[in-house]
Amino acid sequence: MRQPLVAGNWKMNGSLGGSSELLAGVVAGAGAIERCGIAVCPPFPYLALAAEALRGSKVALGAQDLSIHEPGAYTGEVAGSMLKGFGCTYVIVGHSERRQYHGEDDLLVARKYARAVEYGLTPILCVGETLEQRERGETERVVAAHVDGVINLSGVDAFRHGVIAYEPVWAIGTGVTATPDQAQEVHAFIRARIAAKSPEVADGLQILYGGSMKPGNAAELMAQPDIDGGLIGGASLVADDFLAICRAADAAVS
Ligand code: PEP
Repeated sequence: MRQPLVAGNWKMNGSLGGSSELLAGVVAGAGAIERCGIAVCPPFPYLALAAEALRGSKVALGAQDLSIHEPGAYTGEVAGSMLKGFGCTYVIVGHSERRQYHGEDDLLVARKYARAVEYGLTPILCVGETLEQRERGETERVVAAHVDGVINLSGVDAFRHGVIAYEPVWAIGTGVTATPDQAQEVHAFIRARIAAKSPEVADGLQILYGGSMKPGNAAELMAQPDIDGGLIGGASLVADDFLAICRAADAAVS
């Protein structure tokens, strides 16, 4: 049985004061969550604050990106070793917003994934199709390319050390969620693609769903056999909503 994981992607949101309140709210409610792993991924400037606020709690810390480079003369970049030093456990790689606004392609994302693993971080690899790609019947081709980027660079064993988040781009921040059947179909496809190389790796891999997951739709998504939790954007900015999603994930494995 895979343990579920619910990770909050705060994106570029929040303030110093607001982040403190949000962290306090999440920590206060997290104690009652028994089986579901919980993580929050604040913007870089709030990592120190978050590391302090989460100390001693069951909430893990994550970042939203990392550099492919080792520390050195790379202005504006953040190295995996620095994230590790802050106590980060997770790092998101290949989010569609980075693919779209920062030109990240599958090779760059795969290099970030490899760098994260090298530094002992658990990468959360985001994969997913746009609406146009879905309408053209290209969902599996696009998702396969995102997954294969990592396999081609690092081998299937790299998925022993990471997590995949299926995030249909058309569902991110739109309020439109994939139906449980739509999500399950793609999750099963991802697992089967990895199982073709290693059934054991596929069986142990957490595959999260992301895209307008909310307290009201979390339970039916989490009930799907290949959905092992969620990557949560908007709803992770409200402690009560985020915790309600964690409880839904918890209940799905009880
Ligand atoms: C995300 O950006 O990872 C995400 C899932 O966002 P939202 O929950 O707001 O759709």
